[in-house]
Amino acid sequence: MSLTDAPLAALAAQLADKTVSSRELTQHFLDRIAALNPTINAFVTVDPGKSLAEAAAADAARAAGTAGPLTGVPIAHKDIFCTDGWRTTCGSKMLANFVAPYDAHVIQQFKAAGLPSLGKTNMDEFAMGSSNETSFFGPVKNPWDTTRVPGGSSGGAAACIAARMAPAATGTDTGGSIRQPAAFAGITGLKPTYGLVSRYGMIAFASSLDQAGPMARSAEDCALLLNVMTGFDTRDSTSLEREKEDYVRDLDKPLAGLRIGLPKEFFAEGLNADVAAAVEAAVAELKKLGATPVEVSLANAGLAIPVYYVLAPAEASSNLSRFDGVRYGYRAPEYADLNDMYAKTRAQGFGAEVKRRILIGAYVLSHGYYDAYYLQAQKIRRLIAHDFAEAFKVCDVILGPTAPGTAFKLGEKSDDPVEMYLNDLYTIPANLAGLPGMSLPCGFDSRGLPIGLQLVGNYFSEAKMLNVAHQYQRATDWHVRRPEGLS
Ligand code: GLN
Repeated sequence: MSLTDAPLAALAAQLADKTVSSRELTQHFLDRIAALNPTINAFVTVDPGKSLAEAAAADAARAAGTAGPLTGVPIAHKDIFCTDGWRTTCGSKMLANFVAPYDAHVIQQFKAAGLPSLGKTNMDEFAMGSSNETSFFGPVKNPWDTTRVPGGSSGGAAACIAARMAPAATGTDTGGSIRQPAAFAGITGLKPTYGLVSRYGMIAFASSLDQAGPMARSAEDCALLLNVMTGFDTRDSTSLEREKEDYVRDLDKPLAGLRIGLPKEFFAEGLNADVAAAVEAAVAELKKLGATPVEVSLANAGLAIPVYYVLAPAEASSNLSRFDGVRYGYRAPEYADLNDMYAKTRAQGFGAEVKRRILIGAYVLSHGYYDAYYLQAQKIRRLIAHDFAEAFKVCDVILGPTAPGTAFKLGEKSDDPVEMYLNDLYTIPANLAGLPGMSLPCGFDSRGLPIGLQLVGNYFSEAKMLNVAHQYQRATDWHVRRPEGLS
């Protein structure tokens, strides 16, 4: 199999038997980035010198016999992770000139495992968006149809994998930003249980929801990456102190006896017919593999969007107060006094969507509105988590569509925030409950655009979800299809 299409295990095997060096492999993907990035705009920063130096170190580790399973396999990183010596922009003008002085925990983990970085991927500004159109660095184009969005906010990550500019990437998911772009780009992505992957050095959007996870072409590749990413970290107070697990261990288990919960609310009004048909076909496929569908109800899931758009902006308005022109990044060139400097810096440095969120957040937290909005939203968040707990009494994994439709046209929803927000209808509930969720390809719509299947598992059931996804991917070939015209 060509280097371009090989799964991570196959790339690692070729590195181990010296068929290819990490320098050659990294150069191969850097060449693809150079050829395709002008069209796709998936990368904000590439630095071939740095990437190849990391690859040379990986080759040295292989030669010295100190290599781990993935040493030398290159990977792309979402530009939300602080990366020592690399520009880290979070998709914003505010940080367009910010070079991080340290590595995020996730970056440290990949460096320690010997995976060279291919560069930093484009994203919605401060991870706020579902289409990658809020990026200061311009929209990312969907490799399946470059007139369409790749989803967001990890749109650069999803697009670079679909276009084979990188074999894998890191992403983050606050309300769906790993799963929805994975669905739109026809790849596989997993948002772990809240607290499983340290948020240290990951630029904060909504801290009670943000979680980093792997994005790749297959569930098996995501399992290998998750093995690297997890691990207790004292620098994140929400990092969970647990034994490290091997997420590859259950991939080959048969699915006989598996109960898949189908929430009736996820198959209701608003779901595109092609998406519904593809998800139903996936249920039929899983039945053939021995699974039994059971109907479940997530009665409060319909409130997830309003709840999220109170809580996430509230947390964002607080987190983003640090961007004041003093400590990081951009400062307005001209101002009268300190207050004027803050005001001009923030007016010029943030884009429209970020400003909208800061305003909403400040409003819902303000005296007189706190009880009516913020507190009420926290209560409903609890009810949503409770619905999941009830559902998991009768099923092992919940299944449904990842997004209500497939990739939409660039510009199609950018003037209508609420339309845009509705894209995360099915993904946000898992974030509110802190549950793991993943998206995997399950077909194409009538236009040839990928469709995503979502799995939501109980806390810490990543190995089970990856098992279900891997068995499905052994029986189907949706995840190995590739966009045409980008050879
Ligand atoms: N699209 C959602 C938002 O705009 C989720 C983003 C995310 O998960 N980072 O907030």
